[in-house]
Amino acid sequence: MIRTGIGYDSHRFVEGRPLILGGQTIPHTHGLAGHSDADAVAHALTDAILGAAAAGDIGMHFPDTDPRWKDADSMALLRSACEVVAARGLRVVQVDVTVILERPRLGPHIPAMRTSLAAALGLSADEVSVKATTNEGMGFIGRGEGIATMAVATLEGN
Ligand code: MG
Repeated sequence: MIRTGIGYDSHRFVEGRPLILGGQTIPHTHGLAGHSDADAVAHALTDAILGAAAAGDIGMHFPDTDPRWKDADSMALLRSACEVVAARGLRVVQVDVTVILERPRLGPHIPAMRTSLAAALGLSADEVSVKATTNEGMGFIGRGEGIATMAVATLEGN
């Protein structure tokens, strides 16, 4: 049995926080606002994995009203999502992510992001795709107010 899930997340840029994407701290003038570490890549992927299992969403499993998740390492949430789907007899076999942002350029950081995501998911780096694109200057992303991420996860089970 093959199942597919989709995830989306967005976060606003703020000063005074690190920019963490895919478990990597990326040098930039701004970080992302959020209750957790605001890792929008990990959040979109977590939702994609939960979605593939029809197991709810990140807000249901890790509510931002819960002090346990304050400044949480979102890669730990991602690993927890893998455990949720494993309990349902499902295993992540492949993921694909698109990050939409104007700045900074993510290209140089993508290999490290793939490696850290692969480790969290129990996959090899060639089973983890991360891509980046701009929004051509349009909308909130184009104005540099924040970023968005989209993710798809493929799960296998019996
Ligand atoms: Mg989020």
